[in-house]
Amino acid sequence: MFNALVVEKDAESGKTSAAVKELSLDDLPEGEVTVAVEYSTVNYKDGLCIGPGGGLVRNYPHVPGIDFAGTVEASSDARYKAGDKVVLTGWRVGEAHWGGYSQKARVKADWLVPLPGGLDTRAAMAVGTAGFTAMLAVMALEDHGIKDGPVLVTGAAGGVGSVATAILAHLGHEVAAVTGRPETGDYLKGLGATQIVAREELNETVKRPLEAEMWGGCVDAVGGEMLARLLGQMKYGASVSAVGLAGGAGLPATVIPFLLRGVNLLGIDSVMQPYDNRVRAWERIAKDLPMDKLEAMVQPAVLSDLPGLGRDILKGQVKGRVVVDVNA
Ligand code: NDP
Repeated sequence: MFNALVVEKDAESGKTSAAVKELSLDDLPEGEVTVAVEYSTVNYKDGLCIGPGGGLVRNYPHVPGIDFAGTVEASSDARYKAGDKVVLTGWRVGEAHWGGYSQKARVKADWLVPLPGGLDTRAAMAVGTAGFTAMLAVMALEDHGIKDGPVLVTGAAGGVGSVATAILAHLGHEVAAVTGRPETGDYLKGLGATQIVAREELNETVKRPLEAEMWGGCVDAVGGEMLARLLGQMKYGASVSAVGLAGGAGLPATVIPFLLRGVNLLGIDSVMQPYDNRVRAWERIAKDLPMDKLEAMVQPAVLSDLPGLGRDILKGQVKGRVVVDVNA
């Protein structure tokens, strides 16, 4: 028997509830690899899945947790053997397939990546889906060329924003970190931000489609009006990696920044990344994310903390990365 956070839906009221329960290996879904999970994390999507509406959950009862790292316990796939350290992000695990808020998980071998050298399972989950996505966003900016001038990071004190700030600073870029929480200024400067931009400065509705050229690139975790506004502030030919929608799914923008400034809007999806891309991104993380900065982002948690943390992340109140020790 082992422990997991199980979300159940009441058939009559349609309401969901989450609680730590005991499960057996027979309860786990099908898959070639059984993993003894060590750490998982709390991402925005997890908040949706744990929360009262059930968010993105496709089947009940459900074990959420969109990412995990641990040790292979059994495998019928030749690529993995007992004792291998592995990490998983994406593939709708924690939404359509039981995820990482559990001491055991069973998944398809294709969804796993061997833990890259230089990272242990805890560090891999301090990075987690948010950090993996931040790396994909930086790689997309690099592929299109980062222009001179500060790189803007929105939702900077959150998971994606914190890791993007640390990576970009480590790579030698000036980083302008946008936050709605002024009290996180010292934290963001510690991660390498050179400039703190108040959320209000960017949150106003677009008044003019083009403003002064300011930013050499952008990792945007917020979307909505903020994304619309910053498009008009990008330098000529600069790119925006659009990662998230913490500030809204609408995009009240004009086409002018694309037509007159050659701005590139790059969509980043971490869920369906092919194996080779995932391996490349994890290798870059091991190389370009300073471990002392990663440690500064970590808030530790245990399975029973998850319902509360799910609510906090949806309110934008989580700083950095929550790392869940599922065995504590
Ligand atoms: P977090 O909650 O950790 O961070 C989001 C941050 O956005 C908050 O910390 C806050 O930062 C800011 N924010 C929150 N609400 C608002 C608002 N109304 N207006 C402006 N800013 C706001 O979430 P994550 O970093 O884990 O994820 C960020 C987004 O990226 C989410 O939408 C998530 O779903 C998405 N995502 C997408 C992925 C992909 O594959 N494309 C993968 C992972 C995440 P501050 O306090 O500093 O202002």
